[in-house]
Order: sequence, then C-alpha cells, then structure tokens
Amino acid sequence: MTRKLYYEDAYLKEAEARVLEVKDRALLLDQTIFYPTGGGQPHDRGTINGVEVLDVYKDGEDVWHVVAEPEKFKVGDEVELKLDWDYRYRLMRIHTAMHLLEHVLNEILGEGNWELVGSGMSAEKGRYDVAYPENLNKFKEQIIELFNRYVDEGGEVKIWWEGETRYTQIRDFEVIPCGGTHVRDIKEVGHIKKLKRSSIGRGKQRLEIWLED
Ligand SMILES: [Zn+2]
Repeated sequence: MTRKLYYEDAYLKEAEARVLEVKDRALLLDQTIFYPTGGGQPHDRGTINGVEVLDVYKDGEDVWHVVAEPEKFKVGDEVELKLDWDYRYRLMRIHTAMHLLEHVLNEILGEGNWELVGSGMSAEKGRYDVAYPENLNKFKEQIIELFNRYVDEGGEVKIWWEGETRYTQIRDFEVIPCGGTHVRDIKEVGHIKKLKRSSIGRGKQRLEIWLED
C-alpha cells in the first residue's frame, strides 16, 4: 500500500519515500506526492531522484511511478520526490474551477434542467459536455460573470471522507464525490479568461473554459 500524501496535503511539492518494488519501468513507493491518473485528473509530472516520472497509475491501494531510467533504482532505496508544481497547481485550479462551473450552471440553468454527459481537464483548459435544449451561447456572459464574482468573493473548498468515499464542497454549494486535488479557496482559481461553446451533435454541447494566469 502507498500512503497518499497528496490527500493529506495537496500543497506538498517535495517528499521522501522508500522503494518497495521495481517492476518493468515502474516503482512502487511506500508514500507519494504524485497524483495518479484518475477521476478525470491527469497524473502528476516531476522527478524521483532527478529521474523523470513519465506516468503515475493506481493499482488498488498501490501507486506506481513509471520512470525514464528504472535501472537507477532498487528495492529499499530512499528517494527524493519532486513535483512539477506549476503543472500540478494549474490542474488543481482547473479541477476546482470545474466544480465551481457545475454550481454556476445549476444556478443559471436550474438544477435538473441540464445534464452533464462528459468532462475532461488538462493543465490548459477544462471541458464539460452538456445536454441542454437551448444554445448555451445566450448564457455565456452570465456564466462568466457569476463564476468570476464567486472567485472574487472567495470560499473555502472543504474535503472530507465518509468511509471509502471522498467528498468536496465549495462554500455551501453542492456536495460532490471527488478523488482529485483542489485549491484551498476558490480565490486561487482565478477568473475565466475564455468560455467556448460548440455543438457536439445530438442535442449536446461542449463548454470549454480557460483560466487567467
Ligand atoms: Zn472533481
């Protein structure tokens, strides 16, 4: 089992760990700050003892780190973990932004009037695929305005566990089950710089957001 330090403190940028197993090109560590691909959030980038981490994935309670030069590691090694923090922090901001956007859409379109049919995120942008009968372009300005107003007001992002399920909540908004990493306060998210709406057919629309730096 790998202790998931990214859940204990999402702001950890460096840590030490011990190599428990080396398999093919991947290292199993006793603890890690590297978030593995999951819940729509891409895996972290960074280095272990200066060696580039190419992929991070979960297998049950184990977190495996695929590295560029696996021959440099052996079981029992004490290693230094270092995140590409700029990249991770952008993912934290965009992930929290998507939860805030969900709330904003609930407020503007009405909860139950729209359906989330797909989503995705990268460090550059976030995407929601939405089923809604009208063209969402007419709500574009309203969505940006309300989103940015909430960011200006700020609000704590709460995270807690109930058994095996992890929940997040912005202010007193919707409680969302989520395994991702988030910023502490929506002030850190920043404003929406650009919102793009496009049709993806069969009554479905794609909303993509880009955040200000
Ligand atoms: Zn989430």
